[in-house]
Amino acid sequence: MKIIEIIKPDDFHVHFRDGNILMAVVPETIRHFGRAIVMPNLIPPILNGFDAKRYKDEILDVIPKSNKFKPLMTLYLTENTRTDELEEAYQQEMIFAAKLYPAGATTNSEFGVGDISKIMPVLEKMSDIGMPLLIHGEVIDKEIDVFDREKKFIDTVLDFICSELPNLKITLEHITTKEATTYLQDSSINVSATITPHHLALNRNAIFNGGISPHYYCLPILKREVHRKALVRAATSGNPKFFLGTDTAPHLKSDKESECGCAGIFNATYCMSILAQLFDNENSLSQLENFTSINGAKHYNLKLNKEKIKLTKSETPITFEKTLKVNKDHINIFNPNFDVYWKVSTS
Ligand SMILES: [Zn+2]
Repeated sequence: MKIIEIIKPDDFHVHFRDGNILMAVVPETIRHFGRAIVMPNLIPPILNGFDAKRYKDEILDVIPKSNKFKPLMTLYLTENTRTDELEEAYQQEMIFAAKLYPAGATTNSEFGVGDISKIMPVLEKMSDIGMPLLIHGEVIDKEIDVFDREKKFIDTVLDFICSELPNLKITLEHITTKEATTYLQDSSINVSATITPHHLALNRNAIFNGGISPHYYCLPILKREVHRKALVRAATSGNPKFFLGTDTAPHLKSDKESECGCAGIFNATYCMSILAQLFDNENSLSQLENFTSINGAKHYNLKLNKEKIKLTKSETPITFEKTLKVNKDHINIFNPNFDVYWKVSTS
């Protein structure tokens, strides 16, 4: 039996949704993670500090007093976001970062930004006050192939923002391509990227394996094996620009298994087990703590968590629960369909 101990991880990209789903999924994240950056794409979205405060209270209501988990709130940028309101909400610590969704890119992103030039004054202010910008990095042009949208975004939008505002702290969220890892390696120190467990674990074949698998459908969509391998190399390299953001994105089973199934993978439950297995497979367990617990905190100028978690490697693979109950419906729990021997026990 093998045991490792690491600093308690942070998840720098979660979707808690609201209402019954929120109540079901928050306990899954707070069990292993010290902090999480909470995405603002609710209906209606979190548009200002007051929305964020209300949403934070809804999350905190679900968390037992004994748990020190800290949600870090975000605001949803639109072409109408007011610079003065954003600055005030940030200075008062009502929000931690702002999220840029290109309009129509993913779940509930129809309020997002169509024309980047319209939000440049807001981004300039964020650069001045040191507020992080989180980016869903895909163009939404229907002419662009769904597998190429991230690369196109990097070439046409991200590179523009980075060169206009070299001091802006940027996180390119849930990167999925070799091109993204290369761009990040060459970019300035202010630009980092999150990587999800599902993009590290699977390539796009998983979606089409003997039939269509809606529970492996997410955005950005899973890519070819060459890209997955590049992501694994980046995550296990120790390069401080790469860190964990799970993009755990719960949808009810009935909304995934439908004529037009929702994009998103709910992976909070076994995230750390799966990551430990992936790093173990690469003989890189020594880099797991950097990826899950150190690199991201440093990017955001946060202190490292004081608590630790223990991971134990069992003799036999762990058995995954299939679903999480939400009233009469369920959420499918991410299972990468390979043997996972690592179990988490908080110490
Ligand atoms: Zn997301």
